[in-house]
Amino acid sequence: MPAEPTPPIAFAGAAAISARFDSPVVGVDDAALDLLRSTGAAVTLDHDAIAGVSRDWWPLAMTWAGADQVAALAAAIVAPTTPEQVADVLRICHERAIPVTPAAGRSGVVGGSVPLFGGVLLDLCGLRGIRSVDPGSMIVDVLAGTFGDVFEEQLQAEHGLTVGHWPQSVALSTVGGWLACRGAGQLSNRYGKIEDIVVGLDVVLADGTTLTTGGHARQSAGPDLNQLFIGSEGTLGVITGARLRAHRIATATQRSAWSFPTFEAGADACRRITQRGLAPAALRLYDAAEADRSYSTGDVAVLLVFDEGDEEIVRAATAITDQECAGGTAGASPLDASLVEKWLGHRNDVSSLEALISRGYVVDTMELTVAWAQLDALYVTVRDAIAAVPGVMAASAHLSHSYTDGACLYFTFAGKPVEPTRAATEALYMACWNEGTSAALRMGGSLSHHHGVGLNRARFMVDALGAGAMHTLTSIKRALDPHGILNPGKLGLPGPFGEAPFPIEEDA
Ligand SMILES: Cc1cc2nc3c(=O)[nH]c(=O)nc-3n(C[C@H](O)[C@H](O)[C@H](O)COP(=O)(O)OP(=O)(O)OC[C@H]3O[C@@H](n4cnc5c(N)ncnc54)[C@H](O)[C@@H]3O)c2cc1C
Repeated sequence: MPAEPTPPIAFAGAAAISARFDSPVVGVDDAALDLLRSTGAAVTLDHDAIAGVSRDWWPLAMTWAGADQVAALAAAIVAPTTPEQVADVLRICHERAIPVTPAAGRSGVVGGSVPLFGGVLLDLCGLRGIRSVDPGSMIVDVLAGTFGDVFEEQLQAEHGLTVGHWPQSVALSTVGGWLACRGAGQLSNRYGKIEDIVVGLDVVLADGTTLTTGGHARQSAGPDLNQLFIGSEGTLGVITGARLRAHRIATATQRSAWSFPTFEAGADACRRITQRGLAPAALRLYDAAEADRSYSTGDVAVLLVFDEGDEEIVRAATAITDQECAGGTAGASPLDASLVEKWLGHRNDVSSLEALISRGYVVDTMELTVAWAQLDALYVTVRDAIAAVPGVMAASAHLSHSYTDGACLYFTFAGKPVEPTRAATEALYMACWNEGTSAALRMGGSLSHHHGVGLNRARFMVDALGAGAMHTLTSIKRALDPHGILNPGKLGLPGPFGEAPFPIEEDA
């Protein structure tokens, strides 16, 4: 059975699904529909099907499912199965100025694949499968709509290789979605973030022009166009295929767990381990609140270390990790390594989000990168800024990815509005993001590490990038997509269809 997107939450089922935003909806007329059908791509106008594909796992939009609402509704779903069909579809939409929102697994958590201005929802899940594997160079060529779990299963079973990209959402998301969002797997300390894994891309531009980027281990032939499209979130082009670096399947694994008197002491151990040149596959440091919630460890920070790979390398990595944890920090002590097993067993369980949102909680996560020098201060400032929002019941963090120069901090927050109204829920959600993000940017953090910008973070882009960089990005957008059809309203980019309808100015 081919993998399909997993719906984020059930609708109440009391009414026909409607749109929460009142942004103008661009229709697709009969003449355009005929042309789209002539490409060979499947075209769907069924309302329920459109409602199903017009949403992702953005937690705010999940709160609207109880009122049978999605953020916005596309006018039509167009589902190509080949890169050529993608090019034909885009050419037709470009000529008629029809907005096109690329969507695949729809597991994004920032509203990136929500069709804000109607038009075409370009469902890329039909572009699936491994096209070829070069075993000598360990490069795999894969179509963009291939779901992560299916991809890894086939690559491991048939070729004895792994790409090693394991987001928590591996079964919910596709290769193209990983690339479009600049994603990170849970073991990316060892295997790299998706931008490190890419050798080359196949891309279709808004007017149907096709191109390939990259293609070499390294090269010096102008700027790296791979990196232009990675993280572009469907706004600059549609990724139809990719060449990715693979690895032999690990022959050895190692697990250890440590407690630290403070989060800051644990973070310092992660810094020392990484700066000694080690990249254990996972170094996950939980602050005391998060550790106690998951592992009942009391008032200490907890570091879980998991490594895999060649036996000799893993043995050396274990020795160095142990030295840095045991010898480098006063008060650090070993914990039972079965805690790592517990994490491995539950790490892809995504059921809690729907359960909490259905009970009226506002809940979300905010991941960002910060240099080691600013990490301690940023951790406390952002956590406390979110915790101070009235209605917030918990704000905590873990350190999920380490680099020689900094790390990713992954904040989690949950709360409940005093009045269980839609307006109060939205206000609480907005306040958490506004307070947390402005504190993070003030303290030198990045806007995101791997979830991306989408709609939810679009309003912070100028502050995060600076006016000059945003102007450059806007110029690139105009050059590659002069009619502004690709994923309008996202990434903070201006477009011809109107203002993005978020943040919500008033209760509609
Ligand atoms: C429970 C849960 C856990 C998660 N854990 C992780 C994690 O560990 N690491 C991580 O990085 N992310 C994680 N995510 C976020 C999400 O899974 C990723 O952003 C993922 O990469 C999205 O892939 P997708 O196929 O679902 O893309 P979609 O949600 O369908 O689309 C996301 C964005 O990419 C664009 N897009 C999709 N495909 C293409 C394409 N082929 N060409 C151009 N643009 C395209 C869309 O327009 C949209 O802007 C998690 C999400 C959930 C719900």
